[in-house]
Amino acid sequence: MDSNVNNSINPAAQVNAHGEILNLPAASRAAGANDGVFAQVSTNPFFTAGLGLAGFGAVLAAARKGLQQGASLIKRRLLVDVEISVKDESYPWFLYWMTVHQRAQLPGTLVHSVDHTKRQPRQVSLVEAMMRRFTPGMHHLSIETTKIEHPNGSVQTQFTLIPGPGRHILRYRNAFLMVNRVRETKSQDLSSGRPWETITLTTLYSQRHIFEDLFAEAHRLAQQSSEGKTIVYTARSTSWEPFGEPRRKRPIESVILDKGVKESIVADVKDFLRSSQWYYSRGIPYRRGYLLHGPPGSGKSSFIQALAGELDYNIAILNLSERGLIDDRLNHLLTIIPERTLVLLEDADAAFVNRRQTEADGYRGANVTFSGLLNAIDGVGSAEERILFLTTNHVERLDSALIRPGRIDMSVRLGEATRWQASMLWDRFYGELDQAGEYKHEFLAQLVDLGIIDSGEAKEKVAQQRTSTAALQGLFLYNKGNMRGTIEMARGLLPQRSG
Ligand code: ADP
Repeated sequence: MDSNVNNSINPAAQVNAHGEILNLPAASRAAGANDGVFAQVSTNPFFTAGLGLAGFGAVLAAARKGLQQGASLIKRRLLVDVEISVKDESYPWFLYWMTVHQRAQLPGTLVHSVDHTKRQPRQVSLVEAMMRRFTPGMHHLSIETTKIEHPNGSVQTQFTLIPGPGRHILRYRNAFLMVNRVRETKSQDLSSGRPWETITLTTLYSQRHIFEDLFAEAHRLAQQSSEGKTIVYTARSTSWEPFGEPRRKRPIESVILDKGVKESIVADVKDFLRSSQWYYSRGIPYRRGYLLHGPPGSGKSSFIQALAGELDYNIAILNLSERGLIDDRLNHLLTIIPERTLVLLEDADAAFVNRRQTEADGYRGANVTFSGLLNAIDGVGSAEERILFLTTNHVERLDSALIRPGRIDMSVRLGEATRWQASMLWDRFYGELDQAGEYKHEFLAQLVDLGIIDSGEAKEKVAQQRTSTAALQGLFLYNKGNMRGTIEMARGLLPQRSG
C-alpha cells in the first residue's frame, strides 16, 4: 500500500519538476541528512524565491497587524468619539449646525453668520493643508423638504441641503472633526418609520473639549431658528414630530375673547406655572386641564396657539376623532410630550361618541374610547408641568367624569361674537382709520338691528341671530380698509337660510 503511494507520488514529482527536481527523492534518500536537503533547497532558485516571497508576505502581514494594532491603540489613546442616534434630540440640531457651519466655511456661500467664521489669518500646517485640499466641504448632501401651510391655504415648500450619509471632515475652532453619518438599511426607528441612523463624531482626545462648545452652539442655533416662533407638533405614529417650520408666534392681543375671559385663563395658567412647590409638597400630579367649548370659529384653537406663544411654549396638537388613534397610542403620546409644550386635544367629544357606540352595539372602532381618554389624562404626570387643553364644539356630549378637578380644572365657553368682541375686533382692523369711532357706531348699530349682538343696555333687545368671531374677522378681512363696505355687507353675517 505504502509503496503504491510512494510510487504514485514520485512519478508525479518527476513529471512536474523536470530536470533537477526529477532527482530530488533519490538525492534526499542518498544524502540521508537535513544538511543535504538545505543544500539542495538553498541552491534551488524557485524555492528560495518562494521562501523570500513568503517571508516578505509574513513581514507585511506582521507590519499590517502592527499597524492595525497601532492604529487602534492610537484610536483608543488619541481619539475620542461621540455617537448621536436619530432618536436623540440633538440629532437635528447637529445636522443643522453642520449645514450652517460648512456653508460658512465655503467661500462665497456664507448665509449665516456665526462667530467662529471670523478666523484670524494664521500659518497652515501640512496636515491642515492636505485636509483642505481633499475635504473642501461636504461631498454628500441630502435634501430635506418641508411644506408649510399658511392660514390662507397656500402651501410653501422649502428645500434645505443637509449633510448626507457618509464621512465628512470639517474644522471647528482649531480642531478637525470626522463626522460619520451612517444609515442602516435594515433597521428603522419604529416610532417614526424612518431608517435608523447614527452620527459619530471623532476628534483628537486632546481636543475633546470642543464637543461641549459645539453642542452648546448647535443648541443655541436651533433655539435661534425657532426664537419668536412656536413649534407645532403633530403625532406621527407613536411620536411627536414638528409640523413644518416653527410658526411666528401669534400675538395674544390678536385673539379677542369676551371681556375678561382671556385674562382669566392667562392668569390661571401663569399662576399654575408658579405653583410647582404647592403641587409637589402635597404629592399632587403637577398638571392642569382646561376645556374650551363653544361653536366652531369662536377662537378656541387660535387662543391656545397664542397662549403658547405668550408663555414661550410650543404646542402639540392631536385630534381625538382621528382614525387609528387607539387608547394605547394616546396614552403613550401623552407620556412623551416634548418639554415646554402645551397639549391640545381637539374634538374631545369624539371619545364619547365612541362610548355610545360601544355600549349600544358592542362595537369599538379604531378610535379612542371614553375610558381610554380618562386613563390617558390621569396618567399624565412627570417631573415637568403638564398643561392640557381640550376643545369641543359639543360640550353636551361630554361626561361629567371628565370635567372634574384634576382632569379638567377650568372649563370656559367661547361663544358667538358679543358686542364687546365686535367692537374690539373693529378697533384692531380699523382703529387708525376710524379714530372718532363714527363708523364703528354705525356698524354696531347695524349688528343690533340685525339681531346679531345685544344693544349693550340692560333690558333691551337681546341678540337672536348670533355669528362667530371667525365670520366677523372674515368680513373685516374681505373689506380691508373699506369701512363703508363692511357696514353694507354686515347683513351677510346672518345665517344663510336654504331655499
Ligand atoms: P375654533 O377653534 O373655535 O373653531 P379657530 O381658532 O380655528 O376657531 O378660528 C378660526 C379663524 O377665525 C382663525 O383664523 C382665527 O384667527 C379667527 N378667529 C376666530 N375667533 C377669533 C377671536 N375670538 N379672535 C380673533 N380671531 C378669531
